[in-house]
Amino acid sequence: MTWTKRYHYPGDVEEGYYFDIGTYVCKNHFNDDFLNNYIGNNGIRGICSYCDKRLVVIELEAVLTLIAVGLSYIYEDPLDSRYYNKDTKYGFDGNIQPFEELWWDDPFDLRIEDGKLLEDVSNQLYTDQLYCEKNEFGSHQDYLDELWSHFKEVLKHKARFAFHFSNTFRKWNLSDPSDILHQVAATILHHNMISTLKENTILYRARQHTTENEVTGAAKIASLPNFLNKTAGRMNAAGISLFYCSKNKNVTIKEVVSKKRTTMPYYSTAIFRNAEAIRLVDLTKLPDTPSVFDESNNQSIDIIYFMHSFVEEVSLPVLQKDSILEYLQTQVITEYIRYNPDLNVDGMIYHSAKDSKSKNIVLFYNHEDSLDKLKFSKSSIKTSLVKDL
Ligand SMILES: [Zn+2]
Repeated sequence: MTWTKRYHYPGDVEEGYYFDIGTYVCKNHFNDDFLNNYIGNNGIRGICSYCDKRLVVIELEAVLTLIAVGLSYIYEDPLDSRYYNKDTKYGFDGNIQPFEELWWDDPFDLRIEDGKLLEDVSNQLYTDQLYCEKNEFGSHQDYLDELWSHFKEVLKHKARFAFHFSNTFRKWNLSDPSDILHQVAATILHHNMISTLKENTILYRARQHTTENEVTGAAKIASLPNFLNKTAGRMNAAGISLFYCSKNKNVTIKEVVSKKRTTMPYYSTAIFRNAEAIRLVDLTKLPDTPSVFDESNNQSIDIIYFMHSFVEEVSLPVLQKDSILEYLQTQVITEYIRYNPDLNVDGMIYHSAKDSKSKNIVLFYNHEDSLDKLKFSKSSIKTSLVKDL
């Protein structure tokens, strides 16, 4: 018997949960968005058996099935995973709990206040089987966090270019550091985090400069020529130029222009347009971390949680005092996305650090590419004084 079949429907031969209560419940009794939205989206108008109000309600059995999914996500049967130990209370190593003990702790923080509902839910879910947490000895999430730290550590202090020798850089309990890259690409594809930038989209560029008439044409405001690109950015290593831009002029100005740089009193903006439609990895499309009750998506909880850390790091502002070493991991991931043929993209969309509602775009175009592949109108150049901002 597999653990996940602990609940079953009438007529199933397996042992486990059998829900038969016949009551209806509204969404006002659970402290959980997924459960409440499920009731709202799948219920019908009727009387709630617990608060007696006429609202959207659903059979309690439907909610119990979701809670059983959550229990299966978090817990397993010690019979399947723990060593026997006759000297312990329940005969197994580890923190073993009977149902009533784990339910008493409100493991999903549902905060059910209605006494009758709490009793009905507990009675229906009750089994005499034992439970233990699958992640009692370190969660998959911890594993991914640790993999990420190990990846950064290897890049910073061991190997900047040869980290793909998996046996050399494998930690005792971790797979090889470059595995993190494969997980990022797989998540992008699985969750369809690709957007198309339509042909002729207006893309604003900005540049801060010293003298008033410095920006005279496309070449003066396109990606820097590689030989001039001496500083690293959060996504590009020194010497590798990328085209940072935005569909929103003010966002571009905020990202690029700083009043603190007093030796450069001018800034210019200009418009480029993509000659052809281009595919971009869209980091702003990363879904929220799924609920444990969401049976079709809860297996992605860990990697999506991890991806949120990566996306946050990509959007962090570049600070003068940051060590160049702090950018290595995002540069490597960007480069992996850039050259991965499965993704086949020309850039990325990401949240602006200056304004979380706005989006930035980076195109994988160096100086020559940006002049070749983007259209430019000289009349779009606007030069202003930084102090007037
Ligand atoms: Zn109710």
